[in-house]
Amino acid sequence: MQIPFNKPHLTGKEAHYMYDAVYTGKLSGNGKYTQQCQNFFKEKYGFGKCLLTTSCTDALEMAAILIDIQPGDEVIIPSYTFVSTANAFVLRGAKIIFADSRKDHPGIDEDIIENLITKKTKAIVPVHYAGVACDMDKIIDIANRYNIWVIEDAAQAIDSYYTGKDGIKRALGSIGHLAAFSFHETKNIISGEGGMLAINDPKFEKRAEIIWEKGTNRSAFFRGEIDKYGWVDVGSSFLPSEVIAAFLWAQLENIDSIQVKRKENWYAYWNAIVEWANINDVQLPFIPSNATNNAHMFYFVCKNVEQRSTVLAKLKEAGVLAVFHYLSLHKSQFYSGKHDGRALPNSDYYSECLIRLPLFYDLSLEDINRVIEVLKR
Ligand SMILES: *Cc1c(COP(=O)(O)O)cnc(C)c1O
Repeated sequence: MQIPFNKPHLTGKEAHYMYDAVYTGKLSGNGKYTQQCQNFFKEKYGFGKCLLTTSCTDALEMAAILIDIQPGDEVIIPSYTFVSTANAFVLRGAKIIFADSRKDHPGIDEDIIENLITKKTKAIVPVHYAGVACDMDKIIDIANRYNIWVIEDAAQAIDSYYTGKDGIKRALGSIGHLAAFSFHETKNIISGEGGMLAINDPKFEKRAEIIWEKGTNRSAFFRGEIDKYGWVDVGSSFLPSEVIAAFLWAQLENIDSIQVKRKENWYAYWNAIVEWANINDVQLPFIPSNATNNAHMFYFVCKNVEQRSTVLAKLKEAGVLAVFHYLSLHKSQFYSGKHDGRALPNSDYYSECLIRLPLFYDLSLEDINRVIEVLKR
């Protein structure tokens, strides 16, 4: 039997709530389930205004519109990330300034950000890789000094936290001016495709709702705040249907038990693998003492590309579907010609050497042991 890389977990109530949404007759967006989900996030994680979107990609595109990216504006983004992190800003004409990763973690190297800032820099987009926080104190401090927006790509970071120098523990996605989440079926909490924009700076609240609703003030109209609605700004159709929100609600209701199980699986790998990793010069996930682990991903980094090829091939032979991850975006076909030529060796190192092991709710201890056995062999 093959062990897949990912298997979407159902809590059991998804179809029930979707049925309810369908037969209540409210199928378009921004209905009961959408509001329940949005309120849940506000209350549990202390986010500002929350708007469900059809993907994290959409949430990032909304963010780029909200901070009013103009052609030529610069946005600092790690090279080791998913294309959407960069694409959302490229679509508005931004120039992407790719930053390298940290040596001990695939996240952005916070210490090089300041050197990349110019008069044109408009935003920094930290990506909380594997749900582990970037050093947000450093990033917010730079952003404040240079008057730059911070947009967290929190696609992988649901239910994860960061404790600042002030001793306050904050949920990832509540720290930047804006933050984008994903509910793609590969994430911890899913709705097939889906996402959310958290709007933590109240300055953006009103306009976010308008951009979300095709550039109209329809949301204010439905609340009875105005007696006609019309076209007031740019925008698009960023809201998901109630059927999707209903699915998401069934997941959110169970987020605590989902997280407990994912962490159990994650630590089962960790405990079994620590010694093996040491002996074989393999780098394990680094979780700083002021960050939490939301068990989004179990990855490790091989000592070189040859070791990775061998490990991946052996795992595959044994029916274990482990996978590598991003290819450095500064070397991509689309962007290499536009990149300023700086070498980003850590990003390339993760591109060449990182492996992700199967990790999902319904992964059995037996299967985890099988993966470990193959690795040790
Ligand atoms: C998954 C992911 C995205 C994209 O999410 P979608 O919901 O599929 O658009 C963006 N950034 C990161 C870091 C991701 O992991």
